[in-house]
Amino acid sequence: MTPDDFPRGRPASPVLRPACSGDTVEAMDPICSAKGCQSPATWTLLWNNPKIHTPERRKTWLACPEHEQSLSEFLGVRGFLRETEPVGSTDS
Ligand SMILES: [Zn+2]
Repeated sequence: MTPDDFPRGRPASPVLRPACSGDTVEAMDPICSAKGCQSPATWTLLWNNPKIHTPERRKTWLACPEHEQSLSEFLGVRGFLRETEPVGSTDS
């Protein structure tokens, strides 16, 4: 008896990867949220859709100078926009 017809090429063991610790994004440069825009964001738009979010909830969009107006208008006409603040203003 030869073992030649034995299934070969099976992975010996699953490759174990280190657990993905992907929650920290603060080191990355903020990029504008406008579709297709890769510019660095300078504004943070805080908004809330009362139909799907609780009142305390804040969604965040980032905007470059070029898109700050159009994005805030987009949210503003729907009554979603709550606050606009400069990026990085939180470091008191
Ligand atoms: Zn932009």
